[in-house]
Amino acid sequence: MAYQTIYPYTGEVLHEFPNASDEKLEETLTVAHRLYQQWRQEKPATRKPVLHRLATLLREKRTEMARIMTQDMGKLLTEAAGEVDLCADIADYYADHGEELLQPVNLPSDSGKAYYLKQSTGVIVAVEPWNFPFYQIMRVFAPNFMVGNPMILKDASSCPASAQAFADLVLEAGAPVGSLTNLFISYDQVSAAINDPRVAGVCLTGSERGGAAVAQEAGKALKKTTLELGGNDAFIVLGDADWDLLKKVAPQARLYNAGQVCTSSKRFIVMDNLYDDFVAMMKEAFSHAKLGDPMDPETIVAPLSSKSALEKLTAQVQTAVDHGATVVYGNEPVEGPGFFFKPTILTDITEDNPIFDQELFGPVAVIYKVHSEAEAIALANKSSYGLGNTVFSSNVAHAKEVAAQIETGMSWINAGWASLPELPFGGIKNSGYGRELSHLGMNAFVNEHLIYEPYQN
Ligand code: NAP
Repeated sequence: MAYQTIYPYTGEVLHEFPNASDEKLEETLTVAHRLYQQWRQEKPATRKPVLHRLATLLREKRTEMARIMTQDMGKLLTEAAGEVDLCADIADYYADHGEELLQPVNLPSDSGKAYYLKQSTGVIVAVEPWNFPFYQIMRVFAPNFMVGNPMILKDASSCPASAQAFADLVLEAGAPVGSLTNLFISYDQVSAAINDPRVAGVCLTGSERGGAAVAQEAGKALKKTTLELGGNDAFIVLGDADWDLLKKVAPQARLYNAGQVCTSSKRFIVMDNLYDDFVAMMKEAFSHAKLGDPMDPETIVAPLSSKSALEKLTAQVQTAVDHGATVVYGNEPVEGPGFFFKPTILTDITEDNPIFDQELFGPVAVIYKVHSEAEAIALANKSSYGLGNTVFSSNVAHAKEVAAQIETGMSWINAGWASLPELPFGGIKNSGYGRELSHLGMNAFVNEHLIYEPYQN
């Protein structure tokens, strides 16, 4: 597997990185395991200043880091800069709250005194994707650093410069060698690491295919996993939705990061009284969404991350059309060397269309008309995914009741998807299991070690 930066705006190969040897992997495991043993003797508070320094460095080098991400996978520079800000906030959050979140927990019992400690478990292998090159790493690195679990990173082969820049910044912030080691390793080497007794767990964000392969390997080796996989999120528009707010939120919920977000709103489920206006509004918005240079602040839609991503999405939309979907807007090739996909709107996707239950990872909105709230809920739940969901209604209390009926990990009311350090992130069904961020993310690879002293009588 070649670790290469191919700039999606030009198709140029900007960087190539040689694969790591088995010896390098062994050395990394040794150093990381030694660090785990050292950290077991230290309090989490000793690591707090490093995370704060990391946050400061990220803010100081905001544009430099954002450019690296843009060159790796094509996202808009403005969005990449926002990602750097979010990473700094996550680092600060775990620095500020880590100690408190790792306090022992008392367990009321009539039979004795009981509590559990939250202890580190060992080296964690992190397998991460390209769509948020820094944020995906920070989500798992910051909490595990506070817990005392060193991390070995296997990042997407298409964004090696970002992974290396992140790992370098961690060292620059003063973290000991072994805290986070980026390795350009093969799938076989990932398997070897998972099977190594010094490794305690694996977290993966990516596709169902990748998640299943890594989780299978981890299952055989009896290693704990968390999986953050794909989504086909519903965006439910109830009949009393606030139109002005909807106009601001809905197009962006699909087009941000060129539509390559696990929690992008992908299925717009709209009540019949608003349906025609909604389709017209989305068409208008998509037709004004300027494609172009991701470094240009005027650009709205960036290229897709790679040639293969473009080919996959093109084929999926063709399949949708071959099975009866109507193209309301877009689905035309874009001239030029970049991997652009023109924003597209599809309607008339029936349940027997193969695309009905597939994730479209790019700027393609699928819009459905429904005639009742019950129909909207049933359609939202007719998915093998369960990651995120939006409900739009002027009656917020009612929107929350509708949200509670959706089989999903996260729901947003009158807003597109969002991620903040203090809010848990994750899904159910084929979208994976486990949570990242917040106090829940902190506990993912913690040993809840029970201490029990029964009353003697
Ligand atoms: P992917 O192909 O599964 O790749 C993700 C990572 O897994 C990459 O580092 C990849 O390495 C690695 N990988 C894949 N198969 C592997 C194997 N058998 N052994 C070891 N490593 C393996 O996913 P993708 O298509 O690039 O990423 C997009 C997907 O991620 C979308 O479905 C999106 O919805 C999902 N996602 C989910 C979340 C979430 O939080 N739920 C967030 C972002 C993205 P290589 O690059 O070397 O193949």
